[in-house]
Amino acid sequence: MPTSRASVAVPTVVAIAALIALVAPAAFPAAARPNEVPAPPAAPPTLAQAAVRIRGESIATGGAWTKLAWLTDRIGPRLSGSPGADAAVAWALQELRRDGMTNVHGETLMVPHWVRGEETVAIVAPVARPVVAAAIGMSVPTPPEGITAEVIETDSFEALAALGDRVKGTIVLFNKVTPAHIDGAGYGANGGLRSRGPSEAARLGAVAVLVRSLGTLRARLPHTGSLRYLDGVPQIPAAAITEEDAERIHRFIAAGETVRVRIVLGCRTLPDVESANVVADLPGRERPSEIVLIGGHLDSWDLGDGAVDDGAGVVAALETLRLLKQLGLTPRRTIRAVLYMNEENGSRGGRAYAAAHKDELDRHVAAIESDSGAGRPLGFRVLAGPGAADAVRALAAHLAAAGSSAGAADVAEHAGVDIDPLRIGGVPLLGLRQDSTHYFDWHHTMADTLDKIDPRELAENVAAMAFMAYALAESPEPLPRLPAGASKTP
Ligand code: ZN
Ligand code: ZN
Repeated sequence: MPTSRASVAVPTVVAIAALIALVAPAAFPAAARPNEVPAPPAAPPTLAQAAVRIRGESIATGGAWTKLAWLTDRIGPRLSGSPGADAAVAWALQELRRDGMTNVHGETLMVPHWVRGEETVAIVAPVARPVVAAAIGMSVPTPPEGITAEVIETDSFEALAALGDRVKGTIVLFNKVTPAHIDGAGYGANGGLRSRGPSEAARLGAVAVLVRSLGTLRARLPHTGSLRYLDGVPQIPAAAITEEDAERIHRFIAAGETVRVRIVLGCRTLPDVESANVVADLPGRERPSEIVLIGGHLDSWDLGDGAVDDGAGVVAALETLRLLKQLGLTPRRTIRAVLYMNEENGSRGGRAYAAAHKDELDRHVAAIESDSGAGRPLGFRVLAGPGAADAVRALAAHLAAAGSSAGAADVAEHAGVDIDPLRIGGVPLLGLRQDSTHYFDWHHTMADTLDKIDPRELAENVAAMAFMAYALAESPEPLPRLPAGASKTP
């Protein structure tokens, strides 16, 4: 009916006009006409206004989704040293140049080059059954004929130590359930079984290791990840197996039967290759030498497309710069995006950035990393000097007032793997917190693909990162710093 259509259309037009009035003055400053005294530069918007504009624009344009679709569908897996990693570096540089950023460049570093190869795992006794498995990143291979041995099961390093001599000559299965948690606490608690487990088992004479996948969804998916061999201990092959296969092995062992498994892994580590962190700036208007860092990691595991880990963090950083530039929101200080290489199997990108910029870390006033997926943003983890979390919470309150769910800020012991090396210079560190309840459903699997991400939640994540970067770069007083020299990362 025409009348009802009109009654809807008029308020819509008014709303659009109001929105344009809100956005227009700073975004498109009027050019001075001849003979006219130029108007003084428009005052920057209040933080409350900036939060509304940033969030509105992020949701309306959905630019992060477009970027992430390219990264995941057209480039896909990008483990350090792979052609996908090279393509991702080239793509990110091109995106940043196209979006008009300054100081766009790659900072080269050497990265490990591990490749997967054949992986065949099977129960051979008491019955013959296949086991769905994936080599753990950086694992050594088995001999070509594989390793066949009895499986011994444990769920902690303490329980493993108690097994003593019985471990000799066996395949150790670390069989521990990873519970889902909004903050990913289950993964944090069990991560050591995968990374250190192979060396702890080898110390006692084990010949190989299987790890129950650190995942939170029974979809018979193996979850890869990285291991770190300890010095002075034999390096033995290691693979992640699915929860379903771990439970089957458990049932046989619990019934008192001897379980034998055959493992064939063809993975190997090739010589290091050159790669790069990608860096770009949105220069500050008053103190361009002072920097607020934002970022995520550009590399991903080889099995999936690295959408939740960490394509989401990468596009949040890229889109933060684009949004702020498009909105004409130029803060006092420079905002710098760093897309780190090699978080997954070496963490060399984060260390390389901190080392290359060690003489200017005192001018890095904060660093924000997003590496927990793209679930609903909840706020920020804060690792900085006394009072910093309160200051971040006060800023995040503007986000909450604008309708965002990212209004919280809490003291944390860890903010992000790639930014952790900046602790050496006392840089205040922030981690963007997401609802990670389902992050570990797909994390490090072949199912880490774009469809696992909700476009609206991704846009909300961009808004949270973009606003916090803007607010920290605009605030007259920087956050209290950490004591310098406090890096935990070796
Ligand atoms: Zn990650
Ligand atoms: Zn990861």
